[in-house]
Amino acid sequence: MPAVEEVVRLAREQGLVPVGEVLPGVRWDLRYAGAGNFAGEALYPAGMPCLLAGGTAERLAEARAELLGRGCDLLIWDGWRPAEAAERLWDLVRDPRYVAQPGAGGRWSWHCYGRAVDVTLTDLEGRELEMPSDLDDFGVAGAAEYAGGDAVVAERLGWLQGAMTGAGFRVLASEWWHFSDPVVPVPERPVRAADCGMVIPVRGADQ
Ligand SMILES: [Zn+2]
Repeated sequence: MPAVEEVVRLAREQGLVPVGEVLPGVRWDLRYAGAGNFAGEALYPAGMPCLLAGGTAERLAEARAELLGRGCDLLIWDGWRPAEAAERLWDLVRDPRYVAQPGAGGRWSWHCYGRAVDVTLTDLEGRELEMPSDLDDFGVAGAAEYAGGDAVVAERLGWLQGAMTGAGFRVLASEWWHFSDPVVPVPERPVRAADCGMVIPVRGADQ
């Protein structure tokens, strides 16, 4: 993988920016860069920067400002998802209930355009706060409409959703952590890792 500076330079040509540039000090834990995701293997190159479309990052900064005012902060679980990683995820899962088939009907996940973000909340020191579920819980607990009995969790989820929708994001009914930035027109094609000089991991190559 080329130096991160070169990846960022190439990503900028695709309209992507490093989130830390627009949201100073924001934390991320790209769950698809390690095995801690429901596919159970790394789909992103290790050390991949957290990138979003420029306008999406600005909207996220607006949402974050409101959350900081409430004494909590964002932790980003996913931002731009390389098109190759979406293809790999589909190969692994092949179930349209959980993963959108890449390119089906000419559409890709908004993550592949850098226009969706998966987020949760932390305290101001970066300690994760209890939320309805972990990332990629596709059961009832993952629903954006909270059905649990914890009033504190319900209130926090309300803060997150209020801040995000207030900044222009859309909620996804089946995934409380996922927010998309419905900017039109849809870009012509998703951004590939190769566009940014990266190659996604090959299954089993590093194990
Ligand atoms: Zn998502």
